[in-house]
Amino acid sequence: MSWMCSGTSNKELIANLWRQGLLKTPRVKEAFEKVDRAHFSPLGPYEDSPQRIGYDATISAPHMHAQATEALAHRLKPGAKVLDIGSGSGYLTAVFAHLVSPGGQCVGVEHIPQLCTMSEVNLRKDPVHRAMLENGTMKIIKSDGRLGYPEGGPYDAIHVGAAAQGFPQALIDQLKAPGSMFIPVEEGMLGTQHIYHVEKKADGTVEKNKAYGVLYVPLTDAKVHPN
Ligand code: SAH
Repeated sequence: MSWMCSGTSNKELIANLWRQGLLKTPRVKEAFEKVDRAHFSPLGPYEDSPQRIGYDATISAPHMHAQATEALAHRLKPGAKVLDIGSGSGYLTAVFAHLVSPGGQCVGVEHIPQLCTMSEVNLRKDPVHRAMLENGTMKIIKSDGRLGYPEGGPYDAIHVGAAAQGFPQALIDQLKAPGSMFIPVEEGMLGTQHIYHVEKKADGTVEKNKAYGVLYVPLTDAKVHPN
């Protein structure tokens, strides 16, 4: 299903994601149309597979970006606050920023300093995104994502773009009630990974729903990369 979505342009890629049912909400599709993957992925931007962006990171595959955004779409309303952990290329931070505009904010947290710089360079290629960085609709913070970013919270939605060992308590604490988190979690002896949809209900109770198997880079301690 997923590898069938590749296109020769951003528009064609998105049309294919829509046709395959990976994108299904019109306003989510519109947000994807406002962010050109070519600004974030130097290689194969319209291929429906993860691409290397350096520093042991990848920009996730378009079908994963689509599934993650659709899973959080009910929280991504104008005025909402979103946290994007492991923001890497900055692509999804921009998609979320469009969905919460006007009035909302998306904070990307990335622990590799070179990727923080690269993602800001990527975002500044589009004047709309440059303005969003300048007016605070979007922010990239260099930090350990397992600690979240309490200064910007609590959050209506948290997206985690790297596989966690269990469910970081700081992230659960920084979710609003109600609020939702999309997180790949590594578990068991074999270290298999699954997406979990975490829902914090209005009364503060937390539900963790296991969805499907995936392969993400790990949410770890930062390795120092020479420039
Ligand atoms: N959503 C991003 C995914 C990038 S890959 C995109 O599609 O571009 C996962 C990212 O998580 C990498 O950039 C990696 O450096 C980052 N990462 C891994 N562990 C982290 C941690 N503890 N804190 C913050 N970022 C982390």
